[in-house]
Amino acid sequence: MSTATVQEAIDGFVATPRRMFIGGQWVEAVSGRTFATPDPATGETLAHVAEGDAADIDRAVAAARRAFEEGPWSRMTASERGRLIWKIGDLILEHTDELARLESLDNGKPFTVAQAADVPLAADLFHYMAGWATKIEGNTIDISVPYMPGASFHSYTLREPVGVVGQIIPWNFPLLMAAWKLGPALATGNCVVLKPAEQTPLTALRLAELIAEAGIPDGVVNVVPGYGETAGARLAAHPGVDKVAFTGSTEVGKQIVQAAAGNLKKLTLELGGKSPNIVFEDAADGAVAGAANAIFFNHGQCCVAGSRLFVHRSRFDEVVEGVADIAKTIKLGPGLDPGTQMGPLVSDEQLRRVTGYLESGRVAGATTVVGGGRHGDRGYFVEPTVITGTRADMQIVREEIFGPVVVAEPFSDLDEIAAQANDTEYGLGAGIWTRDISKAHALAKKIRAGTVWINCYNVFDAALPFGGYKQSGWGREMGHEALNAYTEVKAVTTQL
Ligand code: NAD
Repeated sequence: MSTATVQEAIDGFVATPRRMFIGGQWVEAVSGRTFATPDPATGETLAHVAEGDAADIDRAVAAARRAFEEGPWSRMTASERGRLIWKIGDLILEHTDELARLESLDNGKPFTVAQAADVPLAADLFHYMAGWATKIEGNTIDISVPYMPGASFHSYTLREPVGVVGQIIPWNFPLLMAAWKLGPALATGNCVVLKPAEQTPLTALRLAELIAEAGIPDGVVNVVPGYGETAGARLAAHPGVDKVAFTGSTEVGKQIVQAAAGNLKKLTLELGGKSPNIVFEDAADGAVAGAANAIFFNHGQCCVAGSRLFVHRSRFDEVVEGVADIAKTIKLGPGLDPGTQMGPLVSDEQLRRVTGYLESGRVAGATTVVGGGRHGDRGYFVEPTVITGTRADMQIVREEIFGPVVVAEPFSDLDEIAAQANDTEYGLGAGIWTRDISKAHALAKKIRAGTVWINCYNVFDAALPFGGYKQSGWGREMGHEALNAYTEVKAVTTQL
């Protein structure tokens, strides 16, 4: 399809208020309300979307429950389910440019990034999980029961779907986060109510159309856009939901834990981070570009952003200067402009949050090497920023900023850096740059984080488990680890 045809499809998509997807039907909110999603490059309204709240979540949960109890989803063979999930991946790839443009408009990220990363990764996740549908297995177990001497048994386990799953996702990778959540849930036979972030509902709604086109039965996937405090909170607390999977801030993650306690839902949480990226004295030159990519990719709006840069004292000035030089050359602009390397932050709220952190760093006495403020006066752009001269107790060192802002500190030796790297309440990601592979693995073992990258950063694959230690979350997404979170294990024993 030509760019003009793709843009025409998008213009049509955003021209009419988007409805929500419940039980295979496109419906208005019960309240009749809609909300506006802005274009973050201009602040102007991009589209109006049905505003789901508790009543809509109730309808969606009922539809998911019906689909789970009555079929045909639950009666399909694993192979049939796998083929349908594979088809979702194919349809995403067929619509790569359309989804990438829509994502760029709604989220602000460069079209080229969405086209090269977000969309193919989302497709790959469905393809990877499609293969697992036929490989969900239990075990046979030889048991010895001391109080029943001489008795013999046949025992085995079944892995069964958890049931109705509520999924609440953020705005930083809207389509990809939907894929991370839906892929394993569907591969294991669950039914889902997905609530996209209010800032970026559009690609999840387009994905729902593709899911219907792929032939996933009505009610298996329901998508209810709306706000966190209303739709999200109802989903987290709903007594008819068996499991919640959440990605977002640690603060809201804690609220989800409390809301889920009512009926003791199973929970997986993928929360914030303040990830250390560590450059040793013997790091190859690529470490400088690697450190810049670790923080500036997706405008720093990554839960694993390498936001604390630690550089060996002997190379501190050179590496900081190198990252600052890269920051100066990054071209900021609307996501759809060819040549844009960094788009706007997702929202006005996020702009104020990030610039607030920049101000707090200045007030606390840190040094801004490059950047340090808003870019332009239209849209939500922030300059790529490098900060030095920090103390471990500063807010900008301890808290997740979720913007293109890195704090850099020097270190002297391996033991010191392990302690510094772990001096955070988070434990999501870490980077290590060195030519000494023994040192790299020794440090990788000491770091309390769910992902460690050596001589690379931001490398994701559907087969790699992803998640956090400490307050970065519970459980893992992707890889076969994700399947455990979406299944219950049943032990069946027969006396022979
Ligand atoms: P958030 O945690 O408020 O929102 C994430 C999702 O949770 C959204 O879908 C939102 O509607 C929903 N939500 C919000 N309150 C809820 C509630 N009470 N019950 C149920 N669902 C609720 O994140 P945010 O406000 O959009 O961003 C704030 C900060 O969170 C960011 O600056 C960043 O630090 C962090 N964040 C982290 C990630 C991540 O991937 N780990 C993603 C987005 C934001």
